[in-house]
Amino acid sequence: SMELSHRVQSLTPSSTLAISAKAKELRDMGHDVIGLGVGEPDFNTPAYIIQAAKKAMDEGLTKYTASGGIIELKKAIIEKFTNDHQLAYTTNQVIVTTGAKYALYALCQVLLNDGDEVIIPTPYWVSYPEHVKLAGGEPVYVEGLEENDFKITKEQLEQVITNKTKALIINSPSNPTGMMYSKDELQALGEVCIKHNILIISDEIYEKLIYSDDEHISIAQLSNELKEQTVIINGVSKSHAMTGWRIGYAVGPTNIIKAMTNHASHATSNPTSIAQYAALEAYANKRENEKINAEMREVFSARLDAFYELIQSIPGITCEKPKGAFYIFPNVIEAAKLNGFQTVDEWVTALLEEEKVALVPGSGFGAPNNVRLSYATSMELLEEAAKRIKRFVLNNQ
Ligand code: PLP
Repeated sequence: SMELSHRVQSLTPSSTLAISAKAKELRDMGHDVIGLGVGEPDFNTPAYIIQAAKKAMDEGLTKYTASGGIIELKKAIIEKFTNDHQLAYTTNQVIVTTGAKYALYALCQVLLNDGDEVIIPTPYWVSYPEHVKLAGGEPVYVEGLEENDFKITKEQLEQVITNKTKALIINSPSNPTGMMYSKDELQALGEVCIKHNILIISDEIYEKLIYSDDEHISIAQLSNELKEQTVIINGVSKSHAMTGWRIGYAVGPTNIIKAMTNHASHATSNPTSIAQYAALEAYANKRENEKINAEMREVFSARLDAFYELIQSIPGITCEKPKGAFYIFPNVIEAAKLNGFQTVDEWVTALLEEEKVALVPGSGFGAPNNVRLSYATSMELLEEAAKRIKRFVLNNQ
């Protein structure tokens, strides 16, 4: 058969794939499987947003749009940055994309030459290394130590910088850890990036899902210099339960946004017109926007409190309490060993087979002693899942 490109052969298969295939197989056999692998809110897209999409369709707004997105949505995004972060952008510093994922993909495509290095703190969201590799770049990993809430320090950052370093990716709140960088920590990392002329890619897609008193701060708002050296990635997928609509965006330096828009014009033409009008309403209707933000925060926060307590009280499992997103990322290596397994991957497979609970092993996120559990599911299922995990750990010693 036809040989595939080296680029695509070097892709790492999604770590969630094997486990969700196995979960599906068990479900098809009639087993009652609890899936804690999901990366999307279990809310419906709010009715006011769906209404706006219907209206757009009825009004014939179903044609190609500008490649970088409709001007009204760009303006709504600019207003969001003014209100939330006191950051001022112009429309040529904004691109609306087919999900935040394509914004990250296109950014790597326009930024990297062969061999350019991008620093990725571990644990990382699974697509970052693949985006870098697909653009010919080299991911350089820095371990966010568990005792430092999985965050990297400026000393660690300094150590891995070379003359090929092009960018640093920051994801706060983080998928998979739910941890957040403080203002001082961001300031420290930012100073290093300015000193070495490294672009900061700040993925802020979980900014509206924060349950502690900590305020979300964008590294771009810490100084004008940092603003000019940062591309912020965000979108409505997580904040407005709109994962299927595929609307994300990037804001940053004009030349980068222009190049990304060029790339999009050939790769996607534009994000779906109807979804753009829906996203516009998501932000423009301020009352409803605030309501959905508050409602999601309240529900996720209550689940986090309850689920975290249940999980961290299981012998052999340790976990720092996350501050945001909708995942907990406990260290389960002791439990796995107590149960006679060498690796967490094997433990996860056995847990699924025996107790029918699907988790994502941390190996896919660069943290092989941990697992990611999503609490984007009902309290009832979370309680049942915790019960099963506990039973599995205690019964197999
Ligand atoms: N960034 C992070 C950290 C994510 O977890 C996700 C989704 O899982 C994305 C980006 C991509 O979001 P979108 O669905 O808008 O492409």
